[in-house]
Amino acid sequence: MDLQTPIKEAGSLYKKYAARLEKLGIKRLYDFLYHIPFRYEDYSLISKIAEVQAGETVTIQGTVIEIKNEYTKNWKRLQKAKVQDETGTIDVIWFNQPFLINVIRKGDSISLSGKIDWFINKLTMQSPEYEVTRSTETIHTGRLVPVYPETYGVSSKWLRRQIYNLISNSKQKLLDHIPYPIIENNGLMELSESIEQVHFPKTLENAITAKQRLSFDELFTVQLSAMQRKAEWEKNLIGRQFSIAKFKKNIETFWNKLPFTLTRAQQRAVREIFKDLAGKKPMNRLLEGDVGSGKTVVSAIAMYLARLNGYQSVFMAPTEILAQQHFNTISNLLSPFGVKVGLATGSKKLQISNVKSQINTNNQKSKQTKNWKLEILVGTHAVLSKTIQFDNLGLVVIDEQQRFGVEQRALIKQKGKNPHLLTMTATPIPRTVALTIYGDLDLSYLDEMPKGRKVIKTWLVPQQKRNNAYEWIEKQIKDTGNQAFIICPFIEESESMQTVKAAIKEYERLVVEVFPNLNLGLLHGKQKAKEKDMVLDAFRKKKIDILVATPVVEVGIDIPNATIILIEAAERFGLAQLHQLRGRVGRGDKQSYCLLFTESKGEPTIKRIKAMETMHVGAELAELDLRLRGPGDVYGTMQHGTPLLKIASFSDFSLIEKAKKEAEKIFPKLSEYPFLQEKLKTITIKQISPD
Ligand code: ADP
Ligand code: MG
Repeated sequence: MDLQTPIKEAGSLYKKYAARLEKLGIKRLYDFLYHIPFRYEDYSLISKIAEVQAGETVTIQGTVIEIKNEYTKNWKRLQKAKVQDETGTIDVIWFNQPFLINVIRKGDSISLSGKIDWFINKLTMQSPEYEVTRSTETIHTGRLVPVYPETYGVSSKWLRRQIYNLISNSKQKLLDHIPYPIIENNGLMELSESIEQVHFPKTLENAITAKQRLSFDELFTVQLSAMQRKAEWEKNLIGRQFSIAKFKKNIETFWNKLPFTLTRAQQRAVREIFKDLAGKKPMNRLLEGDVGSGKTVVSAIAMYLARLNGYQSVFMAPTEILAQQHFNTISNLLSPFGVKVGLATGSKKLQISNVKSQINTNNQKSKQTKNWKLEILVGTHAVLSKTIQFDNLGLVVIDEQQRFGVEQRALIKQKGKNPHLLTMTATPIPRTVALTIYGDLDLSYLDEMPKGRKVIKTWLVPQQKRNNAYEWIEKQIKDTGNQAFIICPFIEESESMQTVKAAIKEYERLVVEVFPNLNLGLLHGKQKAKEKDMVLDAFRKKKIDILVATPVVEVGIDIPNATIILIEAAERFGLAQLHQLRGRVGRGDKQSYCLLFTESKGEPTIKRIKAMETMHVGAELAELDLRLRGPGDVYGTMQHGTPLLKIASFSDFSLIEKAKKEAEKIFPKLSEYPFLQEKLKTITIKQISPD
């Protein structure tokens, strides 16, 4: 059977499972092999019936001498069997599986794995895994048995059977795509053996070695594929070299007029970006920096240089709220230098900043608007609209790039001819990880916060102190005139009606019962853009003391007078997300506070949330989350819900390094390795690349 066959075309057995399997990421037969167990049930201890003891988990193998349905005293159905081997007989029971009497029949040879316990004064095996044995090799019993990620209607047992059959049928076809010297130098297990041993290991050590090989494999190919993309990108030579020397004076003036001094990290990023912009190849750079590290101004300087060189720039942000805010920031920074900044969002076709020389008369203004030549356009994905045309796009900036889909990121570039590309993110990923998943990008890392930022005092507040917390918030607001956010529980991933309803309810409760003497506002994702604008504007103008919001405020909002953030149901967020939310305050030089609430009483959860009290660096919190919850949760939904790595873990830095070294060595000789090239074609770049 060809492993590349799509599930839908792989015969009637698979056809009806196709939709369910797709949920597990299994689209072709081949994907079954890479559906890796997350643990193993150890049923390898095979025991004679006469020797079993209460409390132990064992496998017994014998003949069924009786099986029937029975009712217990309280009318529960149970299935009872007697199984015999050469040493004795034992009772076996299952609960509520009446179909079993059709599957297991008297006289069958059977293998059973499970726990031995007392049941009505007799040693009994309870609810074991069972397997009627036709051949010598067992799959579900009598060995280390793989347990898989499941979905509705697709059990581990079913998956195990399919994977077993595929492996037995396709062994010879699994040619190893990793060049032999690499296998040898790194002491890796060979491919077909790894696949076999990761699913049906002889020993636990074998399983680990197999998984190690497959992890290496994944990291190696992901990085090679990034290198390929990078080489591809670098073929795009353009004559769009920006001159810097010519505009040195302008840049200096701009630099000196900034209301603050750039941090050293910002200066370094600007230098790196300028170097790219002056180069022959289009820039493809990721600017990564913790919340509040000041990425916007860095991009503004780059856009100013583009404008000085006569090129247009577009700046795309993921939400209207954010686009509006960036429009304000960027016009404030650049309008004084005569730069025309426009805003395009779903609700505003085009709004243009007040450039003094343009608003002499009303008449002239409207005329100017018509002939307005785009210089910098800020907006949401509305900037992708066909009606917006650029005749000389030189620079594309994408803010919070992880929030955009691949298609959108590709579309925006097509607005120009190989424009320079600057993507920005606050996703707190360690540098090593960033270099792996964004290996095709050059990286600028803002590892320093603007001066004067104070650590945000953070507490996990016990429920019984809830009212004290409210009183304290009210007093703070009244005494200092500062403002607060209250973040409602995050109920579903994308903002559903359920989340919104909960937020409205909480808002009403707070207005009536808790803060009758303060002005409260409500912000959620289902509001009309106009309404959102009004609420945020009122908050900015201090007409609102407390903004009650769903986690939509997570990204980017910058209101320095807000110094308190209260977060409900903190356990539902990853630490990195909590850190992003917390980053809504502490954006000026005032002392800020973050109060966390949870109803969870579990020790590990409390400990995890408490880490927020002492840790204040996004990348460190992300790493901790990585260790506590595993990569799935931290990076799982980072890129539109597709896990970035299936097998390897981002926390395994040394393996990442190893794979990188080997990838760098092999890349120049890639053409000598046809299997490897084939394999690289199957890597879904979509999941990984921001371009
Ligand atoms: P982020 O990196 O999260 O996008 P922003 O660009 O929104 O951060 O900047 C956060 C705040 O810090 C803004 O109010 C901005 O004006 C301010 N800021 C940026 N750089 C500096 C600096 N070097 N010194 C002081 N404040 C700065
Ligand atoms: Mg930002």
